[in-house]
Amino acid sequence: MPSVETIPINLAKLVNAGDLECECMACHLPLDVRHGPVEWRLTWRFPGPYPEPGVETMLLCDPCYRDWVEHPDELGGFPSSSHRV
Ligand SMILES: [Zn+2]
Ligand SMILES: [Zn+2]
Repeated sequence: MPSVETIPINLAKLVNAGDLECECMACHLPLDVRHGPVEWRLTWRFPGPYPEPGVETMLLCDPCYRDWVEHPDELGGFPSSSHRV
């Protein structure tokens, strides 16, 4: 029985739909905290196994963006590219 949650891979579809909700995949914020407006588009490179090596692009609010880029060791992987949306 796998205990690791499956991470949805199909983020590109959400980006194309113009759905600007924070897509933070490993959030440290409490669930009842509302995320701010999306300000960053971050491409993250996972060396694996999360669930396998690869890159993910996420739209992130500013606190989440900083969480990712300032604590890459905790989240696994490292930023590949980012820009403001
Ligand atoms: Zn977050
Ligand atoms: Zn967020």
